Amino acid sequence: MPSGGLADRCYQAGERREICSMPFTDMCIHSNGIVGACCSDWKFATEYGDVNREHLSEIWNGKRHREFQCAMLARKPIPFCAACMRKPPDRIEEPEILMQKIMKGAAT
Ligand code: SF4
Repeated sequence: MPSGGLADRCYQAGERREICSMPFTDMCIHSNGIVGACCSDWKFATEYGDVNREHLSEIWNGKRHREFQCAMLARKPIPFCAACMRKPPDRIEEPEILMQKIMKGAAT
């Protein structure tokens, strides 16, 4: 298990919950350019960035998105997801390995 900074925060997991695959496959871009976590973010709750000012790859690899992914992998309660109606299936295999890859990207 990784340690330090972001990893420590991610592994301070509370209740167990399903891992949603959306943060690892999708983002949403609102009509004004604001980028959010998924299509459920119609209230602009997550706001990872703005494609008018940043390249989408910078937003995808940015700290806010990685922290969201990390929290999901650690099965932390995420307030934004609490009312989600999608209940996507847990399709993430080996979340610990994916977490390490995300953390490795965070270190660069
Ligand atoms: S649980 Fe729902 S709200 Fe949260 S990222 Fe997945 S699809 Fe979006």
